[in-house]
Amino acid sequence: MTTNTNFLLAVEDLTVSFDGFKAIDGLNFYMDYKELRVVIGPNGAGKTTLLDLICGKTKASAGSIKFKGQELTALPEHRIVWAGVGRKFQTPSIYESLTVRENLEVSYPEGRGVWGALAFKRDRRVLEKIDEVAESTFVKDMLDKEAGLLSHGQKQWLEIGMLLMQDPELLMLDEPVAGMSVKEREQTAELLNTITEGRSVIVIEHDMNFVKRIARKVTVLHQGQILAEGDMDSVQSDKRVIDVYLGH
Ligand code: ADP
Ligand code: MG
Repeated sequence: MTTNTNFLLAVEDLTVSFDGFKAIDGLNFYMDYKELRVVIGPNGAGKTTLLDLICGKTKASAGSIKFKGQELTALPEHRIVWAGVGRKFQTPSIYESLTVRENLEVSYPEGRGVWGALAFKRDRRVLEKIDEVAESTFVKDMLDKEAGLLSHGQKQWLEIGMLLMQDPELLMLDEPVAGMSVKEREQTAELLNTITEGRSVIVIEHDMNFVKRIARKVTVLHQGQILAEGDMDSVQSDKRVIDVYLGH
């Protein structure tokens, strides 16, 4: 086992058992600063569980998760958020009855929950951040629109924007283009390529056309372990990967 603080994220010997079944099984997984990593693999491979473990929603049975050298496995979820880890779930969770602007505003870390934050005077830093985030997530023209009126794709972008308001150093997205149109998928690829400039991102995705647009390094999970890891070409031509995943 190595303990290397040059990694943003170092997952070592990580295991979680659900009634004896190991959804993650002795996993070692490393991410660099400012890296975009795509995680693929068949249903049930443990992809979502890995994100659940990193963000503290699920507690590990064994092993370690170090983020900038800090052990996360012992921390409660909100402390992991404070440490700089943001996570988007598969279904968008936005405040439908608030405007897009208000959704972004309440996500700013100094906001005090929905009602408190809205009552506060909007300071310039928050306004600038909202502008910047709205621009990169394609919702700038909709800032005063009620979030419930957005399309499914726009809601997904808004939720990514809400995470960006917190400036996480690691952003984790679980199947961000599910249910999106082809055009929206292309825009999301563009979005991911921009937001990775200042941070690291883990993206779980099944849509291989989308993966090809964004992927530099790909990790293939299978039965809670890494089956293959490398660039898109090496992973796509890997016989084991074709057998368990791409060939289906
Ligand atoms: P993936 O996201 O790769 O499709 P998951 O991480 O959701 O896979 O699930 C991996 C395996 O762990 C599946 O067999 C799933 O049924 C099981 N699993 C996930 N979470 C739980 C849980 N909370 N309790 C019991 N089993 C779970
Ligand atoms: Mg999943």
